[in-house]
Amino acid sequence: MKEKILLVIFIVLSSAILQGNDSKKPKQKKVIVIDAGHGGQDTGAVGKNSKEKDIVLAIALKVGKYLEQNMPNVKVIYTRKTDVFIPLRERAIIANNNNADLFVSIHANSNPNPRPYGTETFAMGLHKTKGNLEVAQKENSVIVFEEDYSVKYEGFDPNSAESYIIFSLMQSTYLNESLEVASFVQEEFHDRAKRKDRGVKQAGFLVLWQASMPSILIETGFISNAEEEKFLISKDGQEYLSSAIYRAVKSYVTNLENDDLIDSPISKEVIKDLTASKTTELVEKKTELCFRVQVTSSSKPLKMDHPVFKEYTDVFEYYEKDMYKYTIGKYKKYNEVKDFQQKVKKDFPGAFIVAFGNNERIDLKTAIKLIN
Ligand SMILES: [Zn+2]
Repeated sequence: MKEKILLVIFIVLSSAILQGNDSKKPKQKKVIVIDAGHGGQDTGAVGKNSKEKDIVLAIALKVGKYLEQNMPNVKVIYTRKTDVFIPLRERAIIANNNNADLFVSIHANSNPNPRPYGTETFAMGLHKTKGNLEVAQKENSVIVFEEDYSVKYEGFDPNSAESYIIFSLMQSTYLNESLEVASFVQEEFHDRAKRKDRGVKQAGFLVLWQASMPSILIETGFISNAEEEKFLISKDGQEYLSSAIYRAVKSYVTNLENDDLIDSPISKEVIKDLTASKTTELVEKKTELCFRVQVTSSSKPLKMDHPVFKEYTDVFEYYEKDMYKYTIGKYKKYNEVKDFQQKVKKDFPGAFIVAFGNNERIDLKTAIKLIN
């Protein structure tokens, strides 16, 4: 009898392990967590006629609705759908537990000076300016609404600049991806929603700290600026902002799916199909076509012999969306760059493949079509 019980336990355990392995396979659906900042007793920033928690909830729900209506391949998870208080750390835990592909935290900004306006999107990292630190301090200060916050956040003091030094020691595995999706958001805000672009930035946000996937925090505008507050509370304004965020997420998911497609065993046939469907717009670039592995980006130019590049050769810099971006290696064949990327991941876990035609970045899928 005892043996039988042990056997049953063994089977249950081993099937659990097998299931665990299963979850590592590419998922059918991409999981996007939409996080409306603040809620409940935590109002966030307060304007003359509005509260941040209400604006960001309205935008978050709209972003989710667009994704649900237009992207059947995406599963949306909300950290909140109503006016409730959710501790910062719990928001990341929701994303981690759901094995999310992207975490999008939506906020609105404020400043004692009524003049500043515009949108900015942050990835987790060390602030480069006092202004960026102040945004993080303001957003992090809401942990005081949580009981035992100093225990839960390991003594982190949201108002002390020293506390933020910890973020300089952390290398975010998903920094490249986070910066990429952040730049999509800013581009959409600027090009389509016609907002002032304050740029893609980095700072230490507790809400992003423990998220183990690409994650961004969006400041949709300043409710301390009368004009912008009007926009943020208007139906039109919220539509513009949420459809911009939706399109940015869509671009990101499409890139992820292209990667899955390229990695899958059927990719060769699919690529053959794509080649048959002829795109010629980039054919003249074919002679100069190459693949590189992007490893880092920076708001200021780095020296090519910067220690971050170690012994790697063929370091290449290009400028895109207000950032200097750095790649290493140069390959004509996709399978070779893919092997190289795997090796590089030991030093740069977030390394990803980018394609160039005449040293200009081009769409990866198009490049693969062209070389076949
Ligand atoms: Zn906020």
